[in-house]
Amino acid sequence: MCGNNNFVMLDGYFVHDIQPNLKGRIIGGTNVPSIGVACKRCGFISQHALGALGLLKKGEKDDNE
Ligand SMILES: [Zn+2]
Repeated sequence: MCGNNNFVMLDGYFVHDIQPNLKGRIIGGTNVPSIGVACKRCGFISQHALGALGLLKKGEKDDNE
């Protein structure tokens, strides 16, 4: 976002729960596991779905696919 080309991959994962509606919150249902890449200057974090990158192990199906 700031034009910097110096990033770091976060040491862990985001697991975003997909909610079927806005009336409640389900934890542990359908989700999109992803990795974060952070800009070293401004801290902007971009996220990338592991399934789209082919980084899920067999049996760790991305529920959003
Ligand atoms: Zn930046």
